[in-house]
Amino acid sequence: MIKSIADLPIEGKRVFLRVDLNVPLTPACGVADDSRIRACLPTIEHAIKHGARVVLASHLGRPKGPQPALSLEPVGARLAELLGREVLLTDEAVGDGARKVVADLRDGDVALLENLRFFPGEESNDESFAKQLASYADVYVNDAFGTAHRAHASTVGMIAYVSPSARGAGFLMKREIEFLGRLLGEPERLGRPYLAVIGGAKVADKIAVLENLLGRVNAFLIGGAMANTFLKAKGANVGKSRVEEDKLALARAFLKKAEDRGVEVLLPVDVVVASGLDAASGQIVRADAMPADSMALDIGPESSAGFADRIARAKTVFWNGPMGVFEKKPFAAGTLAVAKAVAACRGLTVVGGGDSVAAVNEAGIADQISHISTGGGASLEFIEGKKLPGIAALEVNE
Ligand code: ADP
Ligand code: MG
Repeated sequence: MIKSIADLPIEGKRVFLRVDLNVPLTPACGVADDSRIRACLPTIEHAIKHGARVVLASHLGRPKGPQPALSLEPVGARLAELLGREVLLTDEAVGDGARKVVADLRDGDVALLENLRFFPGEESNDESFAKQLASYADVYVNDAFGTAHRAHASTVGMIAYVSPSARGAGFLMKREIEFLGRLLGEPERLGRPYLAVIGGAKVADKIAVLENLLGRVNAFLIGGAMANTFLKAKGANVGKSRVEEDKLALARAFLKKAEDRGVEVLLPVDVVVASGLDAASGQIVRADAMPADSMALDIGPESSAGFADRIARAKTVFWNGPMGVFEKKPFAAGTLAVAKAVAACRGLTVVGGGDSVAAVNEAGIADQISHISTGGGASLEFIEGKKLPGIAALEVNE
Protein backbone atom coordinates (compact mmCIF):
# COMPACT_ATOMS: atom_id res chain seq x y z
CA MET A 1 0.00 0.00 0.00
CA ILE A 2 0.97 3.64 -0.41
CA LYS A 3 0.36 5.97 2.50
CA SER A 4 -0.93 9.48 2.01
CA ILE A 5 0.82 12.40 3.67
CA ALA A 6 -2.42 12.70 5.64
CA ASP A 7 -1.63 9.34 7.34
CA LEU A 8 1.96 10.20 8.30
CA PRO A 9 2.97 11.81 11.60
CA ILE A 10 4.77 14.95 10.45
CA GLU A 11 4.57 17.42 13.32
CA GLY A 12 8.02 18.74 14.21
CA LYS A 13 9.54 16.44 11.55
CA ARG A 14 11.68 17.39 8.59
CA VAL A 15 9.42 16.42 5.68
CA PHE A 16 11.29 16.03 2.39
CA LEU A 17 8.70 16.82 -0.26
CA ARG A 18 9.62 15.93 -3.85
CA VAL A 19 7.45 18.21 -5.97
CA ASP A 20 7.25 18.98 -9.67
CA LEU A 21 8.19 22.65 -10.00
CA ASN A 22 9.48 22.18 -13.53
CA VAL A 23 7.58 25.20 -14.85
CA PRO A 24 7.93 26.83 -18.27
CA LEU A 25 10.11 29.96 -18.06
CA THR A 26 9.90 33.29 -19.89
CA PRO A 27 12.95 34.43 -21.92
CA ALA A 28 13.87 36.60 -18.92
CA CYS A 29 13.77 33.51 -16.62
CA GLY A 30 10.48 34.40 -14.95
CA VAL A 31 7.69 31.88 -14.33
CA ALA A 32 5.66 31.72 -17.56
CA ASP A 33 2.92 29.50 -16.13
CA ASP A 34 2.51 28.71 -12.43
CA SER A 35 0.00 25.81 -12.77
CA ARG A 36 2.53 23.26 -11.56
CA ILE A 37 3.34 25.39 -8.51
CA ARG A 38 -0.37 25.73 -7.73
CA ALA A 39 -0.91 21.99 -8.22
CA CYS A 40 1.32 21.10 -5.26
CA LEU A 41 0.00 23.79 -2.90
CA PRO A 42 -2.51 21.50 -1.12
CA THR A 43 0.26 19.11 -0.06
CA ILE A 44 2.64 21.90 0.99
CA GLU A 45 -0.11 23.69 2.89
CA HIS A 46 -1.09 20.48 4.66
CA ALA A 47 2.53 20.00 5.79
CA ILE A 48 2.80 23.58 7.04
CA LYS A 49 -0.53 23.42 8.84
CA HIS A 50 0.53 20.25 10.64
CA GLY A 51 3.77 21.74 11.91
CA ALA A 52 6.22 20.01 9.58
CA ARG A 53 9.61 21.49 8.71
CA VAL A 54 9.16 21.41 4.96
CA VAL A 55 12.10 20.70 2.64
CA LEU A 56 10.95 21.06 -0.98
CA ALA A 57 12.97 19.59 -3.84
CA SER A 58 12.48 19.68 -7.61
CA HIS A 59 14.31 19.77 -10.89
CA LEU A 60 13.90 22.54 -13.46
CA GLY A 61 14.72 22.02 -17.13
CA ARG A 62 17.65 19.98 -18.35
CA PRO A 63 20.79 21.67 -17.03
CA LYS A 64 24.22 20.23 -17.65
CA GLY A 65 25.72 21.18 -14.30
CA PRO A 66 24.93 24.43 -12.46
CA GLN A 67 23.28 26.96 -14.77
CA PRO A 68 22.02 30.27 -13.30
CA ALA A 69 19.27 30.53 -15.94
CA LEU A 70 17.73 27.35 -14.50
CA SER A 71 17.83 28.39 -10.86
CA LEU A 72 14.66 27.72 -8.86
CA GLU A 73 14.90 31.26 -7.49
CA PRO A 74 11.93 32.72 -9.48
CA VAL A 75 9.91 29.61 -8.68
CA GLY A 76 10.62 30.01 -4.96
CA ALA A 77 9.59 33.66 -5.16
CA ARG A 78 6.28 32.79 -6.86
CA LEU A 79 5.67 30.00 -4.35
CA ALA A 80 6.30 32.40 -1.45
CA GLU A 81 3.66 34.75 -2.90
CA LEU A 82 1.14 31.95 -3.25
CA LEU A 83 1.79 30.61 0.25
CA GLY A 84 2.00 34.05 1.81
CA ARG A 85 5.13 33.08 3.70
CA GLU A 86 8.88 32.96 3.32
CA VAL A 87 10.50 30.22 1.21
CA LEU A 88 14.22 29.82 1.91
CA LEU A 89 16.16 28.82 -1.21
CA THR A 90 19.41 26.96 -0.57
CA ASP A 91 22.52 27.78 -2.63
CA GLU A 92 22.81 24.16 -3.79
CA ALA A 93 20.64 21.04 -3.44
CA VAL A 94 23.15 19.46 -1.04
CA GLY A 95 26.22 20.74 0.82
CA ASP A 96 27.01 22.93 3.81
CA GLY A 97 24.58 25.69 2.83
CA ALA A 98 21.63 23.35 2.40
CA ARG A 99 22.48 21.46 5.60
CA LYS A 100 22.48 24.68 7.62
CA VAL A 101 19.20 25.96 6.14
CA VAL A 102 17.49 22.63 6.89
CA ALA A 103 18.96 22.40 10.41
CA ASP A 104 17.68 25.89 11.26
CA LEU A 105 14.09 25.24 10.13
CA ARG A 106 11.39 25.62 12.76
CA ASP A 107 7.98 23.94 12.67
CA GLY A 108 5.95 25.30 9.73
CA ASP A 109 8.99 26.77 7.94
CA VAL A 110 9.59 26.07 4.24
CA ALA A 111 12.93 25.55 2.51
CA LEU A 112 13.44 24.91 -1.21
CA LEU A 113 16.56 23.07 -2.33
CA GLU A 114 18.20 24.53 -5.45
CA ASN A 115 17.66 22.64 -8.76
CA LEU A 116 18.38 18.94 -8.13
CA ARG A 117 19.71 18.46 -11.65
CA PHE A 118 22.62 20.83 -11.09
CA PHE A 119 24.10 17.60 -9.66
CA PRO A 120 24.54 14.77 -12.19
CA GLY A 121 23.94 12.37 -9.27
CA GLU A 122 20.22 13.19 -9.43
CA GLU A 123 19.59 11.59 -12.82
CA SER A 124 22.24 8.86 -12.43
CA ASN A 125 20.61 7.96 -9.09
CA ASP A 126 24.01 8.19 -7.41
CA GLU A 127 24.09 6.56 -3.99
CA SER A 128 26.07 9.21 -2.19
CA PHE A 129 23.89 12.02 -3.60
CA ALA A 130 20.79 10.05 -2.57
CA LYS A 131 22.18 9.63 0.97
CA GLN A 132 22.86 13.34 1.28
CA LEU A 133 19.28 14.13 0.22
CA ALA A 134 17.98 11.54 2.68
CA SER A 135 19.93 13.20 5.49
CA TYR A 136 17.37 16.05 5.27
CA ALA A 137 14.40 13.69 5.57
CA ASP A 138 12.74 12.34 8.70
CA VAL A 139 9.74 11.75 6.44
CA TYR A 140 9.73 11.36 2.63
CA VAL A 141 6.73 12.40 0.53
CA ASN A 142 6.57 12.31 -3.25
CA ASP A 143 4.03 14.55 -4.99
CA ALA A 144 5.87 14.76 -8.33
CA PHE A 145 3.84 12.42 -10.54
CA GLY A 146 5.37 13.97 -13.67
CA THR A 147 8.77 12.42 -12.85
CA ALA A 148 7.48 9.16 -11.35
CA HIS A 149 8.58 7.27 -14.48
CA ARG A 150 12.21 8.16 -13.76
CA ALA A 151 14.39 6.31 -11.24
CA HIS A 152 16.35 9.30 -9.97
CA ALA A 153 18.00 9.96 -6.60
CA SER A 154 15.10 12.13 -5.37
CA THR A 155 12.34 9.86 -6.72
CA VAL A 156 13.80 6.43 -5.90
CA GLY A 157 17.38 6.29 -4.54
CA MET A 158 16.96 8.29 -1.35
CA ILE A 159 13.83 6.41 -0.24
CA ALA A 160 15.89 3.38 0.81
CA TYR A 161 17.40 5.56 3.56
CA VAL A 162 14.05 6.65 4.99
CA SER A 163 12.13 4.39 7.37
CA PRO A 164 9.28 2.52 5.59
CA SER A 165 6.83 3.90 8.15
CA ALA A 166 7.81 7.44 7.07
CA ARG A 167 7.26 7.19 3.31
CA GLY A 168 4.22 8.34 1.42
CA ALA A 169 2.58 10.22 -1.42
CA GLY A 170 1.24 13.76 -1.60
CA PHE A 171 -2.33 14.58 -2.58
CA LEU A 172 -1.54 15.15 -6.26
CA MET A 173 0.30 11.83 -6.59
CA LYS A 174 -2.53 10.02 -4.77
CA ARG A 175 -5.11 11.50 -7.11
CA GLU A 176 -3.13 10.52 -10.22
CA ILE A 177 -2.76 6.95 -8.98
CA GLU A 178 -6.45 6.76 -8.13
CA PHE A 179 -7.84 8.10 -11.42
CA LEU A 180 -5.36 6.53 -13.83
CA GLY A 181 -5.68 3.33 -11.80
CA ARG A 182 -9.45 3.34 -12.34
CA LEU A 183 -8.90 3.26 -16.13
CA LEU A 184 -6.94 0.04 -15.68
CA GLY A 185 -9.25 -1.40 -13.03
CA GLU A 186 -11.27 -4.61 -13.07
CA PRO A 187 -13.06 -4.79 -16.46
CA GLU A 188 -16.38 -5.68 -14.75
CA ARG A 189 -16.26 -2.59 -12.58
CA LEU A 190 -15.66 -0.04 -15.34
CA GLY A 191 -18.54 2.17 -16.51
CA ARG A 192 -19.55 1.20 -20.07
CA PRO A 193 -19.29 2.01 -22.85
CA TYR A 194 -15.61 2.69 -22.17
CA LEU A 195 -13.85 4.63 -24.93
CA ALA A 196 -10.21 5.43 -25.58
CA VAL A 197 -9.85 8.50 -27.78
CA ILE A 198 -6.29 8.42 -29.07
CA GLY A 199 -4.62 10.88 -31.39
CA GLY A 200 -1.40 12.82 -31.66
CA ALA A 201 1.72 12.43 -33.63
CA LYS A 202 2.84 8.83 -33.78
CA VAL A 203 1.62 5.25 -33.63
CA ALA A 204 5.06 4.41 -32.28
CA ASP A 205 4.42 6.58 -29.18
CA LYS A 206 0.95 5.21 -28.52
CA ILE A 207 0.93 1.56 -29.58
CA ALA A 208 1.73 0.30 -26.06
CA VAL A 209 -1.21 2.35 -24.73
CA LEU A 210 -3.52 0.90 -27.40
CA GLU A 211 -2.34 -2.64 -26.64
CA ASN A 212 -2.82 -2.31 -22.88
CA LEU A 213 -6.32 -0.86 -23.28
CA LEU A 214 -7.39 -3.48 -25.83
CA GLY A 215 -8.67 -5.89 -23.20
CA ARG A 216 -10.55 -3.14 -21.39
CA VAL A 217 -12.26 -0.67 -23.72
CA ASN A 218 -15.32 -1.13 -25.93
CA ALA A 219 -14.00 1.11 -28.68
CA PHE A 220 -11.04 3.14 -29.84
CA LEU A 221 -11.62 6.48 -31.55
CA ILE A 222 -8.47 7.31 -33.49
CA GLY A 223 -7.52 10.68 -34.91
CA GLY A 224 -4.43 12.85 -35.40
CA ALA A 225 -1.48 11.95 -37.56
CA MET A 226 -1.58 8.39 -36.27
CA ALA A 227 -4.95 7.87 -37.96
CA ASN A 228 -3.17 8.23 -41.33
CA THR A 229 -1.05 5.18 -40.65
CA PHE A 230 -4.18 3.18 -39.75
CA LEU A 231 -6.07 4.48 -42.80
CA LYS A 232 -3.20 3.54 -45.09
CA ALA A 233 -2.93 0.13 -43.41
CA LYS A 234 -6.56 -0.41 -44.47
CA GLY A 235 -5.75 0.52 -48.03
CA ALA A 236 -6.82 4.18 -48.12
CA ASN A 237 -5.06 6.70 -50.32
CA VAL A 238 -3.66 9.25 -47.86
CA GLY A 239 -1.79 11.54 -50.28
CA LYS A 240 1.18 13.29 -48.72
CA SER A 241 -0.10 12.81 -45.15
CA ARG A 242 2.33 11.98 -42.42
CA VAL A 243 2.52 8.17 -42.32
CA GLU A 244 4.84 5.84 -40.41
CA GLU A 245 5.64 3.40 -43.20
CA ASP A 246 7.48 1.11 -40.77
CA LYS A 247 4.38 0.84 -38.55
CA LEU A 248 1.88 -0.26 -41.22
CA ALA A 249 2.24 -3.93 -40.35
CA LEU A 250 1.87 -3.15 -36.65
CA ALA A 251 -1.27 -1.11 -37.35
CA ARG A 252 -2.71 -3.95 -39.44
CA ALA A 253 -1.95 -6.49 -36.70
CA PHE A 254 -3.59 -4.24 -34.10
CA LEU A 255 -6.75 -3.85 -36.22
CA LYS A 256 -6.94 -7.62 -36.59
CA LYS A 257 -6.55 -8.20 -32.84
CA ALA A 258 -9.25 -5.65 -32.08
CA GLU A 259 -11.60 -7.29 -34.58
CA ASP A 260 -10.99 -10.75 -33.09
CA ARG A 261 -11.87 -9.42 -29.65
CA GLY A 262 -14.93 -7.52 -30.83
CA VAL A 263 -13.44 -4.13 -29.98
CA GLU A 264 -14.40 -1.37 -32.41
CA VAL A 265 -11.74 0.85 -33.94
CA LEU A 266 -13.26 4.03 -35.36
CA LEU A 267 -11.11 5.94 -37.83
CA PRO A 268 -11.97 9.31 -39.38
CA VAL A 269 -14.41 9.12 -42.30
CA ASP A 270 -13.53 12.62 -43.50
CA VAL A 271 -10.44 14.77 -42.97
CA VAL A 272 -9.28 18.36 -43.43
CA VAL A 273 -6.45 18.43 -45.96
CA ALA A 274 -4.08 21.18 -47.09
CA SER A 275 -0.88 21.51 -49.07
CA GLY A 276 1.15 21.95 -45.88
CA LEU A 277 1.18 22.97 -42.23
CA ASP A 278 1.23 26.68 -43.04
CA ALA A 279 -1.83 26.71 -45.28
CA ALA A 280 -4.35 29.42 -44.39
CA SER A 281 -7.27 27.02 -44.73
CA GLY A 282 -8.08 23.40 -45.45
CA GLN A 283 -10.46 21.42 -47.60
CA ILE A 284 -12.78 18.67 -46.40
CA VAL A 285 -12.44 15.36 -48.26
CA ARG A 286 -13.32 11.67 -47.68
CA ALA A 287 -10.66 9.94 -45.60
CA ASP A 288 -10.17 7.10 -48.08
CA ALA A 289 -9.61 9.33 -51.09
CA MET A 290 -7.26 12.18 -50.22
CA PRO A 291 -5.81 14.18 -53.12
CA ALA A 292 -2.30 13.03 -54.02
CA ASP A 293 -0.65 16.41 -53.33
CA SER A 294 -2.23 17.18 -49.93
CA MET A 295 -1.96 16.05 -46.35
CA ALA A 296 -4.55 15.36 -43.64
CA LEU A 297 -4.14 17.85 -40.80
CA ASP A 298 -7.39 17.39 -38.86
CA ILE A 299 -10.37 15.08 -38.70
CA GLY A 300 -13.37 16.39 -40.67
CA PRO A 301 -16.76 17.59 -39.36
CA GLU A 302 -18.55 14.29 -39.98
CA SER A 303 -15.86 12.43 -38.01
CA SER A 304 -15.95 15.01 -35.20
CA ALA A 305 -19.72 14.74 -34.94
CA GLY A 306 -19.53 10.94 -34.94
CA PHE A 307 -16.84 10.90 -32.26
CA ALA A 308 -18.71 13.50 -30.17
CA ASP A 309 -21.87 11.41 -30.32
CA ARG A 310 -20.03 8.32 -29.05
CA ILE A 311 -18.30 10.30 -26.33
CA ALA A 312 -21.59 11.83 -25.15
CA ARG A 313 -23.00 8.34 -24.55
CA ALA A 314 -19.90 6.88 -22.87
CA LYS A 315 -19.55 6.12 -19.16
CA THR A 316 -15.74 6.07 -19.16
CA VAL A 317 -13.46 8.08 -21.47
CA PHE A 318 -9.69 8.26 -21.65
CA TRP A 319 -8.40 10.87 -24.07
CA ASN A 320 -4.81 11.22 -25.17
CA GLY A 321 -3.51 13.04 -28.23
CA PRO A 322 -5.03 15.86 -30.31
CA MET A 323 -7.14 15.03 -33.38
CA GLY A 324 -5.16 17.36 -35.63
CA VAL A 325 -2.58 20.12 -35.78
CA PHE A 326 -4.55 22.05 -33.15
CA GLU A 327 -1.76 24.61 -32.72
CA LYS A 328 -2.93 26.07 -36.09
CA LYS A 329 -6.40 27.59 -36.19
CA PRO A 330 -7.54 26.04 -39.54
CA PHE A 331 -6.81 22.56 -38.13
CA ALA A 332 -8.03 22.92 -34.55
CA ALA A 333 -11.75 22.21 -34.98
CA GLY A 334 -11.59 18.42 -34.55
CA THR A 335 -9.61 18.65 -31.32
CA LEU A 336 -11.91 21.37 -29.99
CA ALA A 337 -15.00 19.31 -30.79
CA VAL A 338 -13.57 16.30 -28.97
CA ALA A 339 -12.58 18.48 -25.98
CA LYS A 340 -16.14 19.84 -25.75
CA ALA A 341 -17.62 16.36 -26.05
CA VAL A 342 -15.39 14.98 -23.30
CA ALA A 343 -16.36 17.95 -21.12
CA ALA A 344 -20.06 17.30 -21.73
CA CYS A 345 -19.79 13.56 -21.02
CA ARG A 346 -21.36 12.67 -17.66
CA GLY A 347 -19.17 9.61 -17.06
CA LEU A 348 -15.62 9.33 -15.75
CA THR A 349 -13.38 11.41 -18.03
CA VAL A 350 -9.59 11.43 -17.86
CA VAL A 351 -7.23 13.38 -20.12
CA GLY A 352 -3.49 12.73 -20.25
CA GLY A 353 -0.61 13.88 -22.47
CA GLY A 354 1.10 17.25 -22.69
CA ASP A 355 -0.52 18.46 -25.91
CA SER A 356 -3.99 17.09 -25.14
CA VAL A 357 -3.95 18.84 -21.77
CA ALA A 358 -2.86 22.08 -23.47
CA ALA A 359 -5.82 21.69 -25.86
CA VAL A 360 -8.22 21.17 -22.93
CA ASN A 361 -6.91 24.30 -21.23
CA GLU A 362 -7.19 26.33 -24.43
CA ALA A 363 -10.76 25.16 -24.88
CA GLY A 364 -11.49 26.48 -21.38
CA ILE A 365 -13.25 23.31 -20.26
CA ALA A 366 -10.67 21.92 -17.82
CA ASP A 367 -13.04 22.19 -14.85
CA GLN A 368 -15.53 19.84 -16.56
CA ILE A 369 -13.11 16.91 -16.80
CA SER A 370 -12.99 14.35 -13.95
CA HIS A 371 -9.21 14.24 -13.98
CA ILE A 372 -6.50 15.99 -15.98
CA SER A 373 -3.22 14.21 -15.55
CA THR A 374 -0.23 16.40 -14.75
CA GLY A 375 2.24 13.87 -16.14
CA GLY A 376 2.86 13.63 -19.89
CA GLY A 377 5.27 10.72 -20.24
CA ALA A 378 4.42 9.40 -16.78
CA SER A 379 0.69 9.09 -17.48
CA LEU A 380 1.31 7.31 -20.78
CA GLU A 381 3.66 4.82 -19.13
CA PHE A 382 1.09 4.27 -16.38
CA ILE A 383 -1.64 3.50 -18.94
CA GLU A 384 0.80 1.24 -20.80
CA GLY A 385 0.67 -0.84 -17.62
CA LYS A 386 4.27 -0.22 -16.63
CA LYS A 387 5.18 -0.04 -12.98
CA LEU A 388 6.52 3.47 -12.46
CA PRO A 389 9.68 3.37 -10.30
CA GLY A 390 8.73 6.51 -8.34
CA ILE A 391 5.40 4.94 -7.37
CA ALA A 392 6.76 1.44 -6.69
CA ALA A 393 9.33 2.95 -4.31
CA LEU A 394 6.53 4.32 -2.11
CA GLU A 395 4.91 0.91 -1.57
CA VAL A 396 5.16 -0.42 2.00
CA ASN A 397 3.73 -3.60 3.58
CA GLU A 398 1.68 -2.25 6.41
P1 ADP B 1 0.18 14.34 -26.41
O1 ADP B 1 1.28 15.30 -26.00
O2 ADP B 1 -1.17 14.83 -25.99
O3 ADP B 1 0.47 12.94 -25.99
P2 ADP B 1 1.33 13.99 -29.03
O4 ADP B 1 2.59 14.62 -28.56
O5 ADP B 1 1.32 12.56 -29.35
O6 ADP B 1 0.13 14.34 -28.01
O7 ADP B 1 0.87 14.70 -30.39
C1 ADP B 1 0.67 16.08 -30.50
C2 ADP B 1 1.18 16.58 -31.83
O8 ADP B 1 0.63 15.87 -32.92
C3 ADP B 1 0.80 18.03 -32.03
O9 ADP B 1 1.98 18.80 -32.15
C4 ADP B 1 0.01 18.03 -33.33
O10 ADP B 1 0.27 19.15 -34.15
C5 ADP B 1 0.48 16.77 -34.00
N1 ADP B 1 -0.52 16.28 -34.96
C6 ADP B 1 -1.79 15.92 -34.70
N2 ADP B 1 -2.43 15.58 -35.84
C7 ADP B 1 -1.55 15.72 -36.84
C8 ADP B 1 -1.60 15.50 -38.26
N3 ADP B 1 -2.71 15.08 -38.86
N4 ADP B 1 -0.48 15.73 -38.99
C9 ADP B 1 0.64 16.16 -38.38
N5 ADP B 1 0.76 16.37 -37.05
C10 ADP B 1 -0.32 16.16 -36.29
MG1 MG C 1 3.20 15.76 -26.87
